[in-house]
Parts: sequence; C-alpha cells; structure tokens
Amino acid sequence: MTEKVPMGRYWDEELETAPWLDVQAWQAARLVDFVAALPGRCSLYREELDSVRVLTSRPGSLSFLADLPFTVKDDLRRSQEDAAPGSPFGRHQGVPLNRIVQAVSSSGTTGDPTYFALTARDLDVWRHTVAGVFHTAGVRSDDVVAHLVALPMVAGGLPYADAYRHLGATLAWLGGFPSERILRSLPRLQTSALMATASFLTYLVDHCADIVGFQAKDLGLRKLIGGGEPGLAEPEIREKILQGFGVDHLREVMGLGDVLACMWGECDEGSGMHFCAQRTVAVELVDPETGVQLPWEEGARGEAVYTTFTREATPTLRFRSADHVVVTGMGCACGRTSPKIRCVGRTDDMLIYKAMNVFPTAIREVVISRFSDVVEPTIRIWKERAEQVRFDNPIPLEVEARPELEPGGYPAVARRIEAELRTQLQVRADVAVMTPGALPRTSYKTPLVYVREQER
Ligand SMILES: [Zn+2]
Repeated sequence: MTEKVPMGRYWDEELETAPWLDVQAWQAARLVDFVAALPGRCSLYREELDSVRVLTSRPGSLSFLADLPFTVKDDLRRSQEDAAPGSPFGRHQGVPLNRIVQAVSSSGTTGDPTYFALTARDLDVWRHTVAGVFHTAGVRSDDVVAHLVALPMVAGGLPYADAYRHLGATLAWLGGFPSERILRSLPRLQTSALMATASFLTYLVDHCADIVGFQAKDLGLRKLIGGGEPGLAEPEIREKILQGFGVDHLREVMGLGDVLACMWGECDEGSGMHFCAQRTVAVELVDPETGVQLPWEEGARGEAVYTTFTREATPTLRFRSADHVVVTGMGCACGRTSPKIRCVGRTDDMLIYKAMNVFPTAIREVVISRFSDVVEPTIRIWKERAEQVRFDNPIPLEVEARPELEPGGYPAVARRIEAELRTQLQVRADVAVMTPGALPRTSYKTPLVYVREQER
C-alpha cells in the first residue's frame, strides 16, 4: 500500500474534509468486520468478546462500540506476560511471526515497557498516517527536519524517521549525539524544522547560549513541532518558545505507541490538534470515570479511546489511552472536519485533594496564567510516596520567583497563589516561593510532581 504522497493542502482530502459523522459511519462499516474477525485472530479477544452479540446489520455510527469491552494497558501487559512460544507480543498478537517485520517499544515511563508489532502492511499504514500528521503540522518536502529521538525502537524513533522520509523531507537524525554537536549541526545542515518536547524547546531557549555561545533564534529554524507532553496548550509557554526561537510556526502533535505513533496534528490555525488517522483508527471520547461515550462537541472533556481497525500484528479494541483531552473545536477554517483537541493530562498524573480531581498541568496553568509577572513557568509538586494520589492536607507546591521579585514579597505571592488555586480549582495548596534557579530544569520531559522518599 505504498501510497502516493499528496502535494496539496490536504494529505487525505476525502476523509479530512467529509462531515465528521460521515467519517464515523465510514469507519463503523469497517469496524464491524474487524470486530467479527478479532476472536479468530487473538485469544485475548476470544475471551473478551465471548458474550458479545455479533452485529448482523451495518451500523451508521460508532455507538455500537459502547457494547464492547475496553482494553486497558494492564490487559496488554498481562497478555504479553502470558506469551506463548512463537507469539512474543502476547495473546493479542494477530498474525504469525513470519508476517511481522518490526517490534516497537513503549517508552516505559509508567512501568515495564510493553512491545507492539507491525506487519509490512501495518508499517505502510504507520508511515503514511504519521507523515500525514506532520503534513498537517506544516512539514513539507523541502524541509530539513532534525530528529532528536535517540532510541530507534520507541514509537517516536524509527516510525517518525520513516514518516519524515515518506513525506519527502530531509531526515537529519541527530538524536544520540551530545547536545553541543546537535546544536552546531542545526545551522550547518540548514535545518528548517525541529520536533521536540515542550520541555526541551523551553530548555533550549534558556540554555542554548550556555552550550554553544549563540541564542536559539540564531539556530536558523523556521518550524517547531512539539509533542510528547502537554505544555504547548499554555499561551505563556508557547510565547516563550516562539520568541526565543524567533519563529511564528509552532504546532503540536500527539500519538500513542500502543495504537499509532502519531495521530493528532495541529493545523495552521494553531488552536488544537486535528485527528488525522481516519483511515485506520476509530477514536471515541468517553467519561473517564463511567466509561460512557460522550459526543464530540466543542468544550467536551473526556478520555480518548482508540480502536485500530486495520491493524494486523497487534490490534487493539477500545484501548483506554488514559489521555484526558478537551475538544477545542469542531469544524475549522482550514477545512478539516475532525475534532480539534488539546491534551490536559494523563490518568496516571491525576491527584485527588479531598474529593476533587486535579491535574498538575491545571495547577501550573493557574500559576502561569495569573502570576507570570512574578514567577517562572515551572512548578514542583511534592508527594510523600510514588503511589500517593490522595492529599488530605494542602498539596505541597513550590514555584520559582522571577529575578525582579524582591524576596520580601515571596510570602504575599504564595498566599495569592493559594487563594487563586482555591477559587479556580477548589483545591488547597501549601505554596512556597523559591529563589530564581531553585527548581530543576531537565531537557527531555520536565516532571511537575516529585516524590520525597526518592529524593532523600
Ligand atoms: Zn484546522
């Protein structure tokens, strides 16, 4: 299925511009066959779908999925632990080994890594779909793209590299070299586009000059693509990166190794990421607590759930991504019809103060949207133990003063932040304002939550 690379505005005009309900009906017709075949292909789904009635008519929407079971990360992990000889990817491996051409690893940031597999056809689908996401985010065939991921086996490694080349862009795989060599190579290769985490882009704005003696804006980049963590949703962080690099092109992308390396990409409107995997993945929005399907409409919040209805090697049915998203728009000036979203956080990151759920990113958002004149856009929340989720006492929170703020003013700023968090999020925090430079900066993903027992 090596498809021709489109040259126009859209990558897949038919499905990108058809009404969203029509796209879902188009997917539903294919999903029925996928679901019907699953028990015969994967023993994991044979058990799970045992009691499910087989549909005989063609549904016109994805609502029939609501009757089917979810798959969660632990299901896949257990499926892999029970792997039989010849099926290293677990009981959801859907084809024999002689058809599998690549193993992909999860990053392993939330426990043991899991592995996924691709057949030659899956590989074509990934390459073409991920290239389409980058196309939506503005990467073109005349770009030289710096690829900074150092691990080929993760979803953002070789699969992204394949997609850049499929798009016709020039792949400059610099990941793995020391920072100084990477930064010196960017202008030398006339690199025009760079993809990195929001943390790394912010880190470069602050530290490029320390490493190579010139500023981030002198690297010569024109397009920045951010991914891998929430952060670019916040205007203060976007603005800092745009100004620091002297560019006007900053787009966000998002994917998930278990499903497809990259599925969401931000268009020129810059107001959220469009779903770009219409031809191969169905996405539902569900209430994270009840699992009930929610309608795609502006302002809706929920967890993204994915079904990979063309996947051969390791298919997933209603996979709970744990990514909480907010729909920022339906319909768009760019002509694409798929929902636009921002990711607000992951289930694993959620904290509970009394009975209120709160994401660390929401706390950061309040701090930087109201107090960026006096504190830096970085926070540190302390947990006592790694597994702590509930807080019965105010949440310990450190923020970092900007150099202009006199130390005598720290306590007053701390009390104002506490009051604002109480008003905006109904949570109590115990805020400490720290001196400039006191909070750690890391170059890949900057954690917002730290664990005291690990730091001792
Ligand atoms: Zn758009």
